[in-house]
Amino acid sequence: MPGYTEITPSAEIEIQLHGGRAKCLQRLLRLDMPVPKTLGLAFDAVHSIAAGHLPDTAAMMAEFGEDPIVSVRPSSEDPDWGGPGAILNIGMNDAHHAKIAKEVGKEAADALYLRFIQAYAIHVARLDPDEFEVVDTNASDALEQVLQAYEDETDERFPQDPAQQLSEVLRSMARAWEGTTARILRQAKGAPADAGLGLVVQKMALGVGAGESGSGVIQFISEITGERTVKGRYLSQSQGRDALIDGEGALFLTKDDRGPSMEERCQACFADLIEYGVACRTRLREEMQIEFTIENGALCILDAVRVPRSSRAAVRVAVSMANEGIITHEEALMRVEPRALTELLHKQVDWKGTRDVALKGIAASPGAAQGRIVFSAIAAQASDARGEPCVLVRRETAPEDIRGMHSASAVLTERGGMSSHAAVIARGLGLPCIVGARGMILNTRDKILKTLDGRIFKEGDIVTIDGSTGEVLVGAVNLLEPALDGVFQTLLSWADDIRDIGVRANADTPDDAQTARNFAAQGIGLCRTEHMFFEDDRLTVMREMIFADSPEDRAAALERLLPMQRADFTRLFEIMQGQPVCIRLFDPPLHEFLPHSREGMRELAGALDLPLSDVTRRVEALAEFNPMLGMRGVRLGITVPEIYDMQVRAIFEATIEASRNGAPIVPEIMIPLVSAKREVELVKTRIEAVAAAVRTIEGVEFDYRLGVMVETPRAALRASDIASCSSFLSFGTNDLTQMTYGLSRDDAGRFMGDYVQQGVFPEDPFHMLDTEGVGELLMIGAERGREANPDVVLSICGEHGGNPESIAFCRSAGFDYVSCSPFRVPVARLAAAQLVI
Ligand code: PEP
Ligand code: MG
Repeated sequence: MPGYTEITPSAEIEIQLHGGRAKCLQRLLRLDMPVPKTLGLAFDAVHSIAAGHLPDTAAMMAEFGEDPIVSVRPSSEDPDWGGPGAILNIGMNDAHHAKIAKEVGKEAADALYLRFIQAYAIHVARLDPDEFEVVDTNASDALEQVLQAYEDETDERFPQDPAQQLSEVLRSMARAWEGTTARILRQAKGAPADAGLGLVVQKMALGVGAGESGSGVIQFISEITGERTVKGRYLSQSQGRDALIDGEGALFLTKDDRGPSMEERCQACFADLIEYGVACRTRLREEMQIEFTIENGALCILDAVRVPRSSRAAVRVAVSMANEGIITHEEALMRVEPRALTELLHKQVDWKGTRDVALKGIAASPGAAQGRIVFSAIAAQASDARGEPCVLVRRETAPEDIRGMHSASAVLTERGGMSSHAAVIARGLGLPCIVGARGMILNTRDKILKTLDGRIFKEGDIVTIDGSTGEVLVGAVNLLEPALDGVFQTLLSWADDIRDIGVRANADTPDDAQTARNFAAQGIGLCRTEHMFFEDDRLTVMREMIFADSPEDRAAALERLLPMQRADFTRLFEIMQGQPVCIRLFDPPLHEFLPHSREGMRELAGALDLPLSDVTRRVEALAEFNPMLGMRGVRLGITVPEIYDMQVRAIFEATIEASRNGAPIVPEIMIPLVSAKREVELVKTRIEAVAAAVRTIEGVEFDYRLGVMVETPRAALRASDIASCSSFLSFGTNDLTQMTYGLSRDDAGRFMGDYVQQGVFPEDPFHMLDTEGVGELLMIGAERGREANPDVVLSICGEHGGNPESIAFCRSAGFDYVSCSPFRVPVARLAAAQLVI
């Protein structure tokens, strides 16, 4: 066994044995492209080389004929895993240099030899790169300089034996792959620990010398938009990817008004390249970037790689290939990473630009936006009024920041996790948001933000928030526009044809509902009604209700809230045009609606015409040691039942109102934070009474469905009791995760990074559903619920609902639908389709 194989159309070349590049070269040969002779070394051969067992490199060189010059390139299984850089011009030595100089001139011979010596010295002999830097490569003594530098550094002449040169190159590349740093780097990109490296040894097409000689790169799409266009560069008298290096002399490929082109210089080669591009597209079924060399007018194809592309380009290429019948709809769907779709819904940081990262936190809401830093909701509103985009920076956000969030173009918080207030609201608004920013030192009084490495940002400084990566970038970097075009819609319509699990949206306001509809959500799976009270005018009435001393005063305040709620619900029903709308009754502890600062309390005292001491006393009275486990959800519904009475009355009246103009609406009413059947029974009885009263007063019949949120471990365990009196169960995995782990969803961000880093949790469980623990409760709840009530509709509405992995889990558990933030609906639709393929 020679340990290497010539890559021919019929040779046995496997990606899993020889790597992707070797396989691709074989495919190019099968398409009759002029690929120079190439030998492939399989993974095991390269592994043996690293261990010191070299193949007969003299025999290898002889395979290429007399005095060959060759290149060696890496060929890993997946090109994204990287590998050592290519080494060109192996075989160059003094004798060869003299020969080439005679044939095609000294300049060309110098360039070839110089390039090889530099690469060999730095990457093979591992000498100091500074010693081999040549300021002027055209200087007549450049070659002597580097040869001398090699001798000075090694006390040896530069190796002259081509077989020895090849051996050393192969050995250094094989060893580089097995080094610890390279291993860690590729494992971070998803490579298995034992990923192999193949190598390809190829006869060089020189690209320098007589006639038209040079090298270039060509591709047939824009890597940013995916649109068809010929792109690339060509440089006469060059090798490798030299044409792409900024500098003088590189030509554009096509003939247009930008300047001289390769098309004019070498028409036949250009025409062939266009033909090869079509062959890649139609027969390899991929958009490839082709690396080529022209040697004295003859075209050689050295390599081709899949064009690296933005998400929007990936969508366009997949859809257009399917439209042309090159791939199936299913393949097109599988070619787009669901999470990448979010990039198309929002502005994005231009991935080609440079990034000066000031801070990093949790990427809580995707997209990018920039603006001047402000440190309070009021400053955000003022900035908005001046027409100046701003980034709201807070320690964490609270209901009173809502107006400020509406005014800001992005939000950054020091604390919080994926399901903290800032994160949930920002996702709903489609606002880029970073929470739990590490190393952020906030001084809101002096309006200064410092970073651990000593950077200081003042109010008014401009930053860019990249909510897709969690990075805060200095200044206003270039942003790309969203791309919700026809191609995007087409891909998702194919997804809808295939998927077998429903996708609804979590939508609290008419704006959210409209976004949900625009993204073709199949209804609202969770309307958090309390978010409707965060607006200023309503907040005041809400506070009056909370401050009411007597049932009469409370009833009066609720009476004022009723028409507002009724209008909200009517609007939601109208926007959703008969699709299901699931409205959750009031959930949070009442104190969340009260101000916490002294200034806020004073304002409230003024607004309610109460002494400040009354306000402080009431705020203190409502304070709880552990409000997330206190008087909230159904507990509030049972102890202060008038709130739920008002809400269901508003729902029923809105149902009648919205049903007047179309098909009858059947609202879904959901009870939060249940842990016992009796809670459901008590609320159910009151809802039935309100329904009966509304039917009598209005003289109109309507139907509704009552369901329960499974958010406490006990509700999951007792799902059979609960499902027996519910028509649906919706798993609120935010609270369920919080309560299963006993982990505060608002505070966990502080140590989650350490926990994940040290492997305590594989991922933040608020971000990625914990299928082992919380997932088991989901399975138990689903199974027991269905046992007691086979018709019960099952769904998930926690923040996990939009994650492809959670969707897979819920589908396998037989859930009917998932519900997620409107902006994640497209991701969920595609992810759900991929599960079926
Ligand atoms: C949940 O707990 O999963 C949920 C959807 O409710 P919220 O996030 O409003 O508590
Ligand atoms: Mg909850």
